Amino acid sequence: MKPPTCFACGSRESTENAELVYFALSPAEEAAADRRSASGWVGHPDNAVWFCLEHVQLGRDRVSLHWRDAMAEISALTRGL
Ligand SMILES: [Zn+2]
Repeated sequence: MKPPTCFACGSRESTENAELVYFALSPAEEAAADRRSASGWVGHPDNAVWFCLEHVQLGRDRVSLHWRDAMAEISALTRGL
C-alpha cells in the first residue's frame, strides 16, 4: 500500500485521517487483479485511491465509475487547489 496522500489536494495524512476509496475496474483489470491476489501480490491496486477526510466525498460519489474516469473527473474538479 502507498502511504496516504490525498489524490485531490496532495495532503499527506496519517491512515486515521485518510480513507482509501476503491473505484471500479474493467473486466480485464478485474481478472488481472484476481490473478495477482491469487499469486500473493500485495502491491497497491490502480483503483485504490487515498483521500483526506475533507475530499473523501469526491471519491465516494464516484465509486461506480472506472478508476481512470473517476480520477479524471476529480482532477478536473480540484484543479488549482
Ligand atoms: Zn484532500
